[in-house]
Amino acid sequence: MSSYTVINPATTEAVTDVHLASVEETDAAVEAAHAAFVGGWRDLAPGERATLLRRFATVVDAHVEELAELEVRNAGHTWGNARWEAGNVRDCLNYYSAAPERLFGRQIPVPGGVDVTFREPLGVVGVIVPWNFPMPIAGWGFAPALAAGNTVVLKPAELTPLTAIRLGELALEAGLPEHVLTVIPGKGSVVGERFVTHPLVRKIVFTGSTAVGKKIMAGCADQVKRVTLELGGKSSNIVFADADIDAAAASAPYAVFDNAGQDCCARSRILVQRSVYDEFLSKLEPAVTGMRVLDPTDETSEMGPLISAQQLGTVRGFLDEADVAFEGSTPGGPGFWVPPSVVTTEDTQARIWREEVFGPVVAVMPFDDEADAVALANDTEYGLSGSIFTRDLGRGLRVARAVESGNLSVNSHSAVRYWTPFGGYKQSGLGRELGPDATSAFTEEKNVFIAH
Ligand code: NAD
Repeated sequence: MSSYTVINPATTEAVTDVHLASVEETDAAVEAAHAAFVGGWRDLAPGERATLLRRFATVVDAHVEELAELEVRNAGHTWGNARWEAGNVRDCLNYYSAAPERLFGRQIPVPGGVDVTFREPLGVVGVIVPWNFPMPIAGWGFAPALAAGNTVVLKPAELTPLTAIRLGELALEAGLPEHVLTVIPGKGSVVGERFVTHPLVRKIVFTGSTAVGKKIMAGCADQVKRVTLELGGKSSNIVFADADIDAAAASAPYAVFDNAGQDCCARSRILVQRSVYDEFLSKLEPAVTGMRVLDPTDETSEMGPLISAQQLGTVRGFLDEADVAFEGSTPGGPGFWVPPSVVTTEDTQARIWREEVFGPVVAVMPFDDEADAVALANDTEYGLSGSIFTRDLGRGLRVARAVESGNLSVNSHSAVRYWTPFGGYKQSGLGRELGPDATSAFTEEKNVFIAH
C-alpha cells in the first residue's frame, strides 16, 4: 500500500495521507466505469442526465465554502481564488447540464434517401489534472464529458488530490450512479499511464506540462486514442504607448502573479513600447510592491506560496540567473514563498524570456513598433494566451489576430471563461475545451443513410 502525505504549502505542515492507487485498482475502476457506461449512463434519457448534472451543481454550490477551505489548505490558494474555483465547477456543471437535451445531429440532403447524423458518446474518458488549478481543470473535463454521455475516471495531481476526492463524493450525494465519475488518486507514472494504455479508456483529457503531454500523445497513438492536451505557456502582455498606462500597470501584476504565477495563462512576458517603457516600469513598481502576499488563511491575501519545495527550487533557479529590477514581499516563515519579482531584459535568448517559470516572476522588454511587438510575442513555441493594451481598437484587433495564441484579451486579462473555447496554439496544446462545442469533443459523429 503506498500513500502520499499532502502538505500545506503555506506552512509545510502535513494535512493528511492519501492512498495512491495501483495499476490493478486503476484497472478495476476503469472496468467499473465501462460497466456504468454500457449499463446505464449512455442510455439514460437526456432529460434525466441533465437533471442529475443540475443536482450535482446544486450540491457543489452548497459546499463551495468547504471545497474552498480544502484548496486553501492543500494548494495554498487565496480564499478569493478558491471560492471562484469551486463556483466555477458549479457553473460548468450548470452550463453543460443544458447539453444532453441539445446534442443535435444533422439531416443532410442526399439523393436516394435520408441522411442523418448522431452524436454518440465515446465510452470511458480519462481526465488527468495538474496541481495548479485542481478544481476548475477537473470540471472542464468531467462536466462536458458526462453531459455527452461518457463516464469519467479522473486522476488528480499527487500534490493536490483533496478537492477532487470531495467532488467525487458530492457526485454520489447528488445521485449520479456509482462509477459514472470515479476519482482515482495516484501517480502519473502508474494511474495516468494506465489511462493511456487501457483499451477501455477511449479518450484522454490531459492538462499539464508540455513534456508529459508529448509522452501522452505518443502513448495514445498506439490505440488511436482521442486526446486533448492543455499544456504550458509563455504569454505576452503587450502595452502600446497609446494605452491607459495607469490601468495597464495596475493590472499587470495580477495577470502574472495570480496563483503565485502557477498559471498556464500567466502573462509572464510584458512587452512595453519604448517611449512609455520608463513610465510603465515606474508605475508597475508600486503595483508589485503593494501586492498583499500573505498566508492564504488571511482573507485579504492576494498571493500565496508556491505549491512545493521542488517548485520553489525551480523558480529560485530562474531568479539566480536574472537581474531582478524590483520585487514585492513575502510573509517569510516555513512555507514555499517567493516574492513577486520583476526582471528587465533585452535578451530574447535568456532562459527567463524563453521558458515557462510557473512562479511569480515576470520579464519586461521594450519594443519599437507594432510589427516588432508581434514578432517578439510570437517568438516562442508556446501560444496559449496574451493581452493587448491600446486605445486604438483597430490596432487591438489587428494584434489580437496576429499573435499566434488561443486566447487573447484587449484592455483586460480575461481569465478562462466556461462560455468560450479555451486551448493552445503550437506546443501549448491540441484541441479545445469549454465553450458551446466542448461536448462535441466527447462524441463520435455517426452518419446513417436510409434508402427510400
Ligand atoms: P505534469 O505534467 O507534471 O503533471 C500533470 C498531471 O499528469 C499530473 O496529474 C501527473 O500526475 C500526471 N502525469 C505525470 N506523468 C504522467 C505520465 N507519464 N502519464 C500520465 N500522466 C502523468 O504537470 P504539473 O507540474 O502538475 O502542472 C504544471 C504544468 O501544467 C505547467 O506546464 C502548466 O503550464 C501546465 N498547465 C496547463 C494548463 C492549460 O490549460 N494549458 C492549465 C494548467 C497547467
